[in-house]
Amino acid sequence: MAAALAFSGSNPAQAAPHDNDPMAPFEIADGVYYVGASDIASYLFKTKGGLILLDGGYDTTAPQILANIRTLGFDPKAIKILLSTHGHLDHAGGLAQLKRETGATLYASPLDGALMARGGKGDFGLKDRAPYPPVTPDRTLVDGQAISLGGVTMTAHLTPGHTRGCTTWTLPVRVAGRLRQALILCSNSILPPYRLDAAHESYPGIAADYEKSYAFWRSAPCEVFLGSHGIFFDMQAKRAALLAGKTDAFVDPAGCKTWFDKGYVDFKATLASQQSEAAL
Ligand SMILES: [Zn+2]
Repeated sequence: MAAALAFSGSNPAQAAPHDNDPMAPFEIADGVYYVGASDIASYLFKTKGGLILLDGGYDTTAPQILANIRTLGFDPKAIKILLSTHGHLDHAGGLAQLKRETGATLYASPLDGALMARGGKGDFGLKDRAPYPPVTPDRTLVDGQAISLGGVTMTAHLTPGHTRGCTTWTLPVRVAGRLRQALILCSNSILPPYRLDAAHESYPGIAADYEKSYAFWRSAPCEVFLGSHGIFFDMQAKRAALLAGKTDAFVDPAGCKTWFDKGYVDFKATLASQQSEAAL
């Protein structure tokens, strides 16, 4: 299920069978930490007013995330704000536990927040096949909303398609003494059951949503490319480079551009092939 959720099927060779293995946390940029598993990402942001956590993994990832936060020397109770990329089980499955144990305020987009409150059931593409412990967000986000805590401001961008309320986050970060723009991708993948052609579209406007989301992704400043899965941005290779002393290993505007250029070509090809199938 994890592989099916994470990958469009266009590149099964890349599917990570061990997406949820425990992994030591590390610092990506000043005060920005990777606290997730081997592929299932989660990010911790240190601010003067407490901590922000983005994404909760599977329900079985949540204890790893909490352990990683403690390994870094932080108290999970200092987490004031819980954010999410989207309401699939590999990113929202751990949010109920994390919310319970931290008491943080959970923000989500209206449509993915509703999906989280249903514990992932009634998804337009996955139906009831990928349930998780339900969690009800405290606040809903609008497109372009800024979330600020202790001098750190993150901006929510609604980039629907993969889910109806998929949320990509941007923020300025400091890497090796330089200010950089970070982009944390929700997901651009098209899961195998999705239909994009007008005659059978999985939800009304799905193809137009992907089109609009790509317009954002391909124009947004993206120097530090991150996302809900490590595989989106070659996390393991960059982590190895970082640990070997390359302090700006995660600065990769070219990798970001390539990911979205290639993704857009794949999206158009999938759309065209589904349209021609539908026309038969
Ligand atoms: Zn997903």
